[in-house]
Amino acid sequence: MIFPDYHLHSEFSADCETNISNIITTAKEKGFTSICLTDHYDMDFPVLPEVPDITFELDYEAYYATLSKLRDTLLPDFDLRIGIELGVTDKNIAHVTEFAKAHSEYDFFIASSHIIDDMDPYYPSYFKGKTEIQAYRRYFESILYNVTHFKDYNVYGHLDYILRYGPNQADNFDIKDYRDIFEEIFKIIVYDGKGIEINTGSLYKNMAFPHPHSDILKMYKAAGGEIITVGSDAHYTKHIGYGFDVARDILLEHGFKYYTTFSKQKPTFVSII
Ligand SMILES: [Zn+2]
Ligand SMILES: [Zn+2]
Repeated sequence: MIFPDYHLHSEFSADCETNISNIITTAKEKGFTSICLTDHYDMDFPVLPEVPDITFELDYEAYYATLSKLRDTLLPDFDLRIGIELGVTDKNIAHVTEFAKAHSEYDFFIASSHIIDDMDPYYPSYFKGKTEIQAYRRYFESILYNVTHFKDYNVYGHLDYILRYGPNQADNFDIKDYRDIFEEIFKIIVYDGKGIEINTGSLYKNMAFPHPHSDILKMYKAAGGEIITVGSDAHYTKHIGYGFDVARDILLEHGFKYYTTFSKQKPTFVSII
């Protein structure tokens, strides 16, 4: 059993140079019959002191045109789905909402938190002046804000992405420090009929488990969460489908019987077993 990879970046992302044809060739070689590309679109990206010139704009018209043409040539043997990873912040919600509502032709939208309080936690400045717990809580609180105010997505991406960049990563992670926030987040996500993803990108970033941490996943399940996609967050072809055997074991261990695929943002549930 192999999950279709639902979190992949290509040359259309500002931080990625991987050619789309190479992605398709590699995915086929690895045995995939379907994948969903999810290039970055972070609207109103702040000017970061560390990299003042970087933006995460997406030429979404060229992106969609390229991928839809490719999709038609690959069918019926290979089912390419077209998605976007939308970076959401408290400041860009109106823009992201407007974009998502105007683009129902996309198969799949991941909502992701990459920026908090105009800072990118990839850089140590985000952690300055905060304890690790404060830094992590602030990140999770921003997700709570986003799921409260943004409704035009299918799954929320890498929920505990912040653990990748913390001074001790997940070494001191204790769910009791964050339980109150995740209870609220999952209440909203489940009520809204949205989902989350298992993101195996952490496994090639020195972490022992895919996002999210097992205690967070447990809370999602307990809250009635059923919608779940699996993605590698690959920016290089070698990471396509990375650690999906681990993801499968974790899903089964936590009582999930289905993973989810999306076509024009409508979910299909597929048995894991
Ligand atoms: Zn991301
Ligand atoms: Zn990503």
